[in-house]
Amino acid sequence: LQRTFSILKPDATRRNLTGAVNAVIEKAGLRIVAQKRIQMTKGQAETFYAVHSARPFFDELVEFMMSAPVVVQVLEGENAIATYREVMGATNPANAAEGTIRKLFAESVGENTVHGSDAPETAAIEIAQFFSGNEIV
Ligand code: ATP
Ligand code: MG
Repeated sequence: LQRTFSILKPDATRRNLTGAVNAVIEKAGLRIVAQKRIQMTKGQAETFYAVHSARPFFDELVEFMMSAPVVVQVLEGENAIATYREVMGATNPANAAEGTIRKLFAESVGENTVHGSDAPETAAIEIAQFFSGNEIV
């Protein structure tokens, strides 16, 4: 079994969609083994998206991630990283496949409802940024 890191972004909490998104996650066979609702600080958002710091949308992305609470999660399952990327759908919801979270719920490329890790190395780093080992059960 593999673990991946997930965020239900501010557009999800703002529209009261966290349960609806979790239902899609669980239906895909992923188990939510850790979950908490937090208000991201600027430092947390900048650290989390540091890989995008040179991109033109970076400031907007950081402001968005602080604009309402988020739900951070650890998901566990068979090939959890790839499975969740598939369930999330394309970054731009206009390109997302039917039935994916972003097709169902996302409004724009900036406000695209969920984050999921893209590789085992980033999953480990992202999980460790928000959870201690004994919070994952
Ligand atoms: P995430 O990392 O959030 O799971 P992703 O891996 O599908 O999404 P990335 O390329 O890593 O996409 O981009 C990170 C995030 O930056 C996107 O989810 C989106 O919120 C934002 N983003 C990406 N491209 C743009 C853009 N052109 N304009 C505005 N925001 C963008
Ligand atoms: Mg990404």
